[in-house]
Amino acid sequence: MSSGPRRVGVMGGTFDPIHNGHLVAASEVAATFDLDEVVFVPTGIPYQKQHVTAAEHRYLMTVIATASNPRFTVSRVDIDRPGETYTIDTLRDLAEVYGEETELYFITGADAVEQILTWKDVEELFSLAHFVGVTRPGHDLNGDGIPTDELSQLQIPALAISSTDCRARVEKGLPVWYLVPDGVVQYIAKHELYRSEDG
Ligand code: ATP
Repeated sequence: MSSGPRRVGVMGGTFDPIHNGHLVAASEVAATFDLDEVVFVPTGIPYQKQHVTAAEHRYLMTVIATASNPRFTVSRVDIDRPGETYTIDTLRDLAEVYGEETELYFITGADAVEQILTWKDVEELFSLAHFVGVTRPGHDLNGDGIPTDELSQLQIPALAISSTDCRARVEKGLPVWYLVPDGVVQYIAKHELYRSEDG
């Protein structure tokens, strides 16, 4: 637990499904920045992605994956807000939920860091949260153009796992054990997710 203002990490993602790469990223940032909590925020309708699994499935998989960590929580702000999800709305809502004394740390993988300057209302984004970019295999961590006091860059253990690959593996009948938490493997099987186009 940190002294001073409460520090909360924000791990936004589609989580379709949540995998161990997401969990390690959150855990590493929590340890490095002495965070009191990391809130996982499954997106509603991501404006950049075409087909995603129903929000309730993604939300429940995120709850299952984070349940054993006392610092991890899950927020419904994005899935309960109508329309497409923009990070600026996520951070505005969380700033209201946590109050202005709380410092928010928005966590992104290297692939997303490259995009930040194109995000909606970027100046306000930086005023609402400090950004932490984490390394991800296959992507250069490049914060060019982002002021250094707005973005920290953190090297984390390399896990070459993506949700896209997990979905493809399930569809082909390949295992996802140890790529996603056990409970998520079981949830995917129980609800027959990722078996077809309708997954
Ligand atoms: P997809 O393959 O469907 O695009 P994804 O695996 O990239 O999904 P998201 O839910 O889109 O997962 O990612 C949420 C956040 O987690 C993003 O900031 C992303 O960069 C980061 N992230 C995802 N996988 C990793 C990983 N293996 N290592 C580090 N960061 C990751």
